[in-house]
Amino acid sequence: MLVRRTLPGRDVRSVGPWCFVDHYGPTRPPGASVMDVPPHPHTGLQTVSWLLQGTVEHLDSLGSRATIRPGELNLMTSGHGIAHSEESAGAVVPLHGVQLWVALPDSDRHQAPHFEHHADLPTWSDGPMRATVLLGTIDGASSPARTYSPVVGAELRLSASSRGRVPLDAGFEHAVLLLAGSATADGVPLDAGSLLYLGGSRTELALTADSAATVLLLGGAPFEEDLLMWWNFVGRSHDEITQARAEWAAGPNARFGSVIGHNGERLAAPALPTTTLKARPRRRPTAGG
Ligand code: MN
Repeated sequence: MLVRRTLPGRDVRSVGPWCFVDHYGPTRPPGASVMDVPPHPHTGLQTVSWLLQGTVEHLDSLGSRATIRPGELNLMTSGHGIAHSEESAGAVVPLHGVQLWVALPDSDRHQAPHFEHHADLPTWSDGPMRATVLLGTIDGASSPARTYSPVVGAELRLSASSRGRVPLDAGFEHAVLLLAGSATADGVPLDAGSLLYLGGSRTELALTADSAATVLLLGGAPFEEDLLMWWNFVGRSHDEITQARAEWAAGPNARFGSVIGHNGERLAAPALPTTTLKARPRRRPTAGG
């Protein structure tokens, strides 16, 4: 399955607390795309699972079992540690979706893990443009999903040959990613393979669509804590990452538990690099910003 990883980028490593963006599918011909991600651990983040097409079943070490469909949100807060698996389910159709991570601030990253499924998210419209709010708020339309730092995430849908404006929080930085169709953001043509970073101090974003388009809007207050992202862990120091890796490698334990209902193998952690892992700022230092 084609996966386009657009965050972290070389220069822009996070947008608000959003620190990881994978856009996958749709794979053609139909039937070729199946997701089967065996049990694996996470620390220090929230995973956001969002689909445009297909069905995915989530299982985790808390005993959560949640099937997501397009328009529904799975939000898993790993806190100190959790393990989960994700597999396609239901009718075989090309899977199309995004897998996103939100970094937890230091004050909240050691908490106990929890899982939320939201099937009824708020929407906000500007003429033919319709926004579904995954996280945060757009013009008073607030997602019920629990968050830990100022953040916004929304799916924007435009019909063919339409335009719309979405209000933005000027204290946030923002980025957009084209998920389907063809569209421009403030006149800039969007590409499915790259995140368009919009910077901060914006009060609105103008979108136009040629064909019907779906655009992902991500933003938040600039995340000022340096992050160390390695494999499925978000931490702050080499020792923390080494510790998390060792605890996962040791087998089922109090920190990561077992993915209840999954009978297959768990993912093995890759070898650590021989160099010391270092936390990095949100921007590559030479890139400014
Ligand atoms: Mn995961």
